[in-house]
Amino acid sequence: MLRLNDIVDKFLAHHPDADVDLIKKAYVYSAKVHAGQVRKSGEPYLVHPLEVAGLLADLKLDAASICTGLLHDTVEDTLATLEEVETLFGKDVRELVDGVTKLSQISFTTREEKLAENFRKMLIAMARDIRVILIKLADRLHNMRTLAFMSPDKQEKIAQETQDIYAPLANRLGIQWIKVELEDLAFMYLKPREHQEISDSLGQTSRERGLFIEKVVAIIRDKLQGTDCEKSEIYGREKNLYSIYKKMIGKNVNLEDIHDLVAFRIIVDDVAQCYEALGLMHALWRPIPGRFKDYIAMPKPNMYQSLHTTVSGPEGERVEIQIRTREMHEIAEEGIAAHWKYKETGSLPTSDKTDRSFAWLRQLLDWQKELTDPGEFLESVKVDLFSDEVYVFTPRGDVMELPRGSTPVDFAYSIHSDVGNHCSGAKVNGKIVPLRYQLHNGDAIEIFTNPNQKPNKDWLSFVRTSRARNKVRAVVRAEQRQRSLDIGRELLERELKRFGLSLQRVTKDKSIERAFKDGKYNNAEELLVGIGYGKINPASAVERMLPEDKRIEAKDDKAKEPEKAPDQAQSRLGKLLERVTRRGSSASSGVKIEGIEDMLVRYARCCHPVPGDDVVGYITRGRGITVHRADCDKARELDSARRVKVSWDTKVKQERNISLKIITEEREGMLADLTQAFTKSAVNITQANCKVVDKQYAINTFEIGIDDLDHLKKLVKSIEAIKGVHSVERVRS
Ligand code: MN
Repeated sequence: MLRLNDIVDKFLAHHPDADVDLIKKAYVYSAKVHAGQVRKSGEPYLVHPLEVAGLLADLKLDAASICTGLLHDTVEDTLATLEEVETLFGKDVRELVDGVTKLSQISFTTREEKLAENFRKMLIAMARDIRVILIKLADRLHNMRTLAFMSPDKQEKIAQETQDIYAPLANRLGIQWIKVELEDLAFMYLKPREHQEISDSLGQTSRERGLFIEKVVAIIRDKLQGTDCEKSEIYGREKNLYSIYKKMIGKNVNLEDIHDLVAFRIIVDDVAQCYEALGLMHALWRPIPGRFKDYIAMPKPNMYQSLHTTVSGPEGERVEIQIRTREMHEIAEEGIAAHWKYKETGSLPTSDKTDRSFAWLRQLLDWQKELTDPGEFLESVKVDLFSDEVYVFTPRGDVMELPRGSTPVDFAYSIHSDVGNHCSGAKVNGKIVPLRYQLHNGDAIEIFTNPNQKPNKDWLSFVRTSRARNKVRAVVRAEQRQRSLDIGRELLERELKRFGLSLQRVTKDKSIERAFKDGKYNNAEELLVGIGYGKINPASAVERMLPEDKRIEAKDDKAKEPEKAPDQAQSRLGKLLERVTRRGSSASSGVKIEGIEDMLVRYARCCHPVPGDDVVGYITRGRGITVHRADCDKARELDSARRVKVSWDTKVKQERNISLKIITEEREGMLADLTQAFTKSAVNITQANCKVVDKQYAINTFEIGIDDLDHLKKLVKSIEAIKGVHSVERVRS
């Protein structure tokens, strides 16, 4: 069993001046709270935190990390609380313990590589501090070393998770020795037979391989003699079991070629010597084409640097050689931990090295965000490493990566466009949330769909992914197009009616073709949409359809009764019908209809809306759009599919007609008083009807022109102020 002193010694070896009191205190505390607990192996539980702390000391981590190693299971498995940990060990340790505890509560289920990658990223995102990941890796490594004591199904689950998540994570962080050990241990539990076979046959050929290594090392040393690389370290090394197994599977070979199982390394002093040694090796043995790789010029994403070459060795066998500097070697073995000392010693590396460390971390973590000060990053390490992404769970337990700020709608579209298009609600961690809710790391999301649900234009204000945005836009556009098509059809029908024609007829006799071809449209539908959008004047479209002689007639028609017709119509219908279809007259229609400009607008006779009222529009066959007050009972009975959003165009001053019913006392001069109130408010009366009921009351109905709701309110106030007025009411129908 590892003792506290061993850990302290390891720690002091890399941090000679550091204070070890906190570590000792953490040990005493951990021993106290874990007292009486035993591991599956029968050992006292304390063995585990001690081993984890020892591994962290091997990783050269700081005192807070080592304390956390000792305390990492206390909050989850004992009565200890985070508050207590903070009081005793400070905020830094509290946050690390909290981070490790949270990571332990997530379990990984999927086997898909892409999702595994997301899961790894999520772990890092949730950790928020790289030290949490390193502590978790140490924890996992010790658990894997003692996995034999677990039940077979737990062994398999933990080994699988190690292979899928933790070994690749160690690789991403560049910590080679942990990666290799995790891989081989997981391999042993997942494929015991294959593991046994490979290790048996390696054992059988080990003497032979030892001789081969000796021979090759001697030849290389001889060749380097008398050169700058004379003092290089040279050795041969067996590859790890799992990488041999992967090679066998990948290349479908068996274990017979022992040479492939060994890699030779030359560790030199500087980069120049790397290339010099390479030249010497290529002079010694013929290089195999296509096998040379320059990871010095092009480092791997985990900042691995080396020259790799494979040559035709002493007896023509393939020999793999890796050449690197000592520093590269350290980074290759220890990864992020090799950089730790920069932070610890407080002596940040020179600018050249800072840049490289920075580049390494950037690449390492696929970090896209611009960092202004790389030194600051190394200083604090508590950086939101994936600040641009958020990782969330699907109901199946898969992890999905989304841009930060994404909502359940983005999530729905990332699953399938149908799910997005019919997304009607969402639950996050079991609670219903609004669709505009912004997702957090680790959220578990469930989407509700409804076949009647359609994407809403409002969604565009909160969706974050371009996929969702494009899909919502496409649907909204298609709807607008359909609406424009309906409106265009209405407008054209109406215009055609003036000439005794119909859409059906002009379609049948193909005269409509003249109109759309003339307007450079491909078909009649596009023409109708164009009219609906207000791009084409329906009158000129009709004119283009007519044969020459009819056109003249039409023009004559217009010439004969220029402005008169509307006037007559208005007087006849009591100004209840308004026609506003002149080209470019969108502004004069008084209302705006979303996405559509030129249209025929009519105000409903049932509720007489005036500017300022809440209104809705309905597409009406043959009559364009009818505007109702939003609370109109008649409007509610209409088909909601034909409903369009309309709003008042405040730029347009336009008189609207309404009826007022005023109940008054029957007295002399009442009518004069009322008329005066109208005149004072600058209101025109178009019709008046006064009826005396049982000699006491009079019901007066006035049809008047009103500018807007404010105008009406002022008028009503001034009428109510008249002596003898009982009530003033706006007439609905
Ligand atoms: Mn543990």
